[in-house]
Amino acid sequence: MSKKKMSLTSKVLIGLLLGLIAGIIVYSLPSGILKDTILINGIFQLLGQIFLRGIMMLVVPLVFISLVNGTASIGDIKKLGRVGVKTIGFYLTTTAIAVMLALILGYFIKPGVGVDLSAIEVVEPTINPRIPIVQILYEMVPTNPIAAMAGGNMLQIIVFAILTGIGISILGPKADFIQKLFVGLNDLIMKLVEIVMIFAPVGVFGLVARTFATVGYTLMVPLMKYILLVYVGLIIHAVFVYGGLLKGFTNLSPLKFYKKFLPAMSVAFSTASSNATVPVSLEIVEKELGASKNIASFTIPLGATVNMDGTAIMQGISVFFIAQVYGYEMTFGMMLTVILTATLASIGTAGVPGAGIIMLSMVLQSVGLPLEGIGLLMGIDRIVDMGRTAINITGDAVCTTVIAKQEGELDLELAQS
Ligand code: ASP
Repeated sequence: MSKKKMSLTSKVLIGLLLGLIAGIIVYSLPSGILKDTILINGIFQLLGQIFLRGIMMLVVPLVFISLVNGTASIGDIKKLGRVGVKTIGFYLTTTAIAVMLALILGYFIKPGVGVDLSAIEVVEPTINPRIPIVQILYEMVPTNPIAAMAGGNMLQIIVFAILTGIGISILGPKADFIQKLFVGLNDLIMKLVEIVMIFAPVGVFGLVARTFATVGYTLMVPLMKYILLVYVGLIIHAVFVYGGLLKGFTNLSPLKFYKKFLPAMSVAFSTASSNATVPVSLEIVEKELGASKNIASFTIPLGATVNMDGTAIMQGISVFFIAQVYGYEMTFGMMLTVILTATLASIGTAGVPGAGIIMLSMVLQSVGLPLEGIGLLMGIDRIVDMGRTAINITGDAVCTTVIAKQEGELDLELAQS
């Protein structure tokens, strides 16, 4: 079993690597039918999209079915509340730590100093409309659950699924049939995830190859310091914060954790979407890291929507970048505001490509920095988005493992295997 899974990990990694190499080679080819029609918009697009759409196809039914199951089998509303409070607490704390780390890096390394502005291609920034936090909260309750599912509104689906699960557990024996049905559906959908994942190595290849064949390397040059600094921040967070939490709370080897979780990180990297990664994350967290469905089916989809440490790191560093480029002094008070708004912004950021850079407008507005700054970063954002999404979903898996351990719902033998 574990041998088979290992081989999927290696295959996905090989797909990713080959995609990178193929993308860079194709980028250097002259424009024409071979490069544009046959490769970029032909083969790469076909392979990537079949996989991406296949995995997206499973997100809504999977989140709903597995969360109904998980909630129904917890059965104890008090425990549900405790897990909920702990999860939100964990997500908010790690995100705040991520912003602080980014601010420290931005303060000392100064990504916006010495930037040649004339070399940057400025893109018209997309500004996020200001949504009051109260509205974000009440809109979590769907007025129409079918519309929530059709629109893929994760938070609304989560609320409806939890209520359904609670209802089933209160009804008890009367809802036996429904519970059995959901257990069966859950087995089915997990099987579908396995089937779609067979295609992951090729899909990841196509997605990464297409991105790197079309990305503007020349655009990246003047922003290299910024891009590298975000990646340094992401790596520090993954190694020290997540590694420390895993070691401290679960005594699991972080290395083993990352080895098992790599396929999910590769899917996140190549799709730049936390939502699209939910099926793979759930599968690995339950079947390889040993977390129970009760916990994982709640923490993983919730985390994909509200927990974005990678995005927070990007936002913290971007704030310094923009302040330095436009000659603003960052005061201590401004930094505190950034910690607060970037943490809140991450809750409102959807788990889809490019959402984080749009939400950056909210953070900039809170400290009076120029919104045009976003336009400087948009041209290269995909490169940063891939890395931060991989960290976003890793945070969800770390939280799941920690909470499952605390609740006595972590199969340690499986986790350490
Ligand atoms: N792409 C990220 C995600 O799906 C969100 C972002 O743009 O930062 O997690």
